[in-house]
Amino acid sequence: MSAKKEKQPNQIIELLTGRVIRSTGSWYRVRLENDNVWDCKLRGKFRIKGIKTTNPVAVGDWVRISIEGDIGFIHEIGKRNNYVLRKSVNLSRRAHILCSNIDQAILLFTLGQPVTTLGYIDRLLVTCEAFHIPAVIIFNKIDLLQEDGLKKLEDIKEKYERIGYKTVSISANNPQYTDQVISLLKDKTSFVVGRSGAGKSKTINLAEPNLKLKTGNISDFSGHGKHTTVYAELFPLSFGGEIIDSPGFKEMVIFDLDKDVLSHYFPEMIPLINECRFRNCIHVSEPGCAVKRGVEEGIVSHSRYNTYKGMLNEISDSDW
Ligand code: GDP
Ligand code: ZN
Repeated sequence: MSAKKEKQPNQIIELLTGRVIRSTGSWYRVRLENDNVWDCKLRGKFRIKGIKTTNPVAVGDWVRISIEGDIGFIHEIGKRNNYVLRKSVNLSRRAHILCSNIDQAILLFTLGQPVTTLGYIDRLLVTCEAFHIPAVIIFNKIDLLQEDGLKKLEDIKEKYERIGYKTVSISANNPQYTDQVISLLKDKTSFVVGRSGAGKSKTINLAEPNLKLKTGNISDFSGHGKHTTVYAELFPLSFGGEIIDSPGFKEMVIFDLDKDVLSHYFPEMIPLINECRFRNCIHVSEPGCAVKRGVEEGIVSHSRYNTYKGMLNEISDSDW
């Protein structure tokens, strides 16, 4: 994208293209294509179609700014490819856009220290699917696994590879894996999530030793945690690409999740859904359900189907 001149009544304002790398509510830090950085304010009112959000501009947004003196003004926001929402700090039923235009989510898991359940992996994958963010799974701390642990890891990897997710196993404390991590992150805008202690900082530091992350430590999915003011920040990587860092990823929520769309977030169920006898089948107790048949035939794994049913129950129980 290049700078374009736009005519105003008495002046010519030159608009420059950049990306929001930090936001504090009223100020937005924008990095221009020439790598210059400007602190900007909004010019005029911004309304975004569709969702009710508390922040009109988010970290990761592409914007067009003018520079007046030593501050910038944001005039336009580019269309978002995707975005992550969290619950708003103040008003109920409103969302806060944590970040946008994300190429991939790196989900970092450990079989031990801490232990990861399959349900936990599935739920994070569903969240990514709902936000249209490609997910890559890293299993860390493989140095801690014995033979049976490594066998179990291979089975789990196969389970997720089969339904289309890329999986990688590493030890973040072993420099041998540096190139692998770099090639995952290179030239992409990524964020890394996982439980506290899974090794997110250590993994990023393998690739970029000087980056200090606040990271998105996830403890549970109840969504009833405290909502503090949480902002994201986008850091450039020396080898190309960016990392979005925020403690707010632990509060990612899917808004307005309906029972009949949940199965769309399980990629292996998608080709089966149209074969169910009933159009509004939610794949639990209906006769002629192709998803249940898929479970019997091993196309859908029991553990994934159990997660699906668990999430379905929570939708009806949810106060959202
Ligand atoms: P975060 O909370 O996800 O950012 O986790 P950290 O990166 O701070 O790592 C948590 C702890 O696990 C630290 O003590 C790390 O040294 C340790 N750790 C991280 N990766 C590995 C690994 O691959 N193997 C082993 N044995 N320890 C690791
Ligand atoms: Zn069905």
